[in-house]
Formats: sequence, structure tokens, C-alpha cells
Amino acid sequence: MPKAAKIVCKPCGLAMNRHAEKLERSVGPDETRHVDPDLGGVVREVHTCPGCGGSATRKAFLPTLEKGD
Ligand SMILES: [Zn+2]
Repeated sequence: MPKAAKIVCKPCGLAMNRHAEKLERSVGPDETRHVDPDLGGVVREVHTCPGCGGSATRKAFLPTLEKGD
């Protein structure tokens, strides 16, 4: 299984660490196909920077939901 690439902190240029996942229920029209019907929203990964402590989120890497793209 391919590993998701790390998010790089823009100010620091450091690879951020995946910290948690959170469920987001407000999604845009282009993301509705990624909504998990069991959860009722899109799962996002929360990443934190070891340098500045900043955070970033992105759609969680869920291979089964990416098929047929
Ligand atoms: Zn940083």
C-alpha cells in the first residue's frame, strides 16, 4: 500500500507529523463523493509542525474511497 506523502510546513520547510484525525461534516460540492456514509462527513488528518507548532489539515488518505477517480 502506498504511503501518503508528508505535509511540509510552509514557513519552516519541515515535514509535519500526523497528529490526529477529525470528522468534518461541512464539505464542499467537490468533496461529497468522499463523505463516509457511516460517519456522515469527511475525515481529515491534522498535522502539526515540530518546528513552529503550526498545524494543517488535509483529507485523510483512504485508498478505498479514491478508486475510480
Ligand atoms: Zn513550522
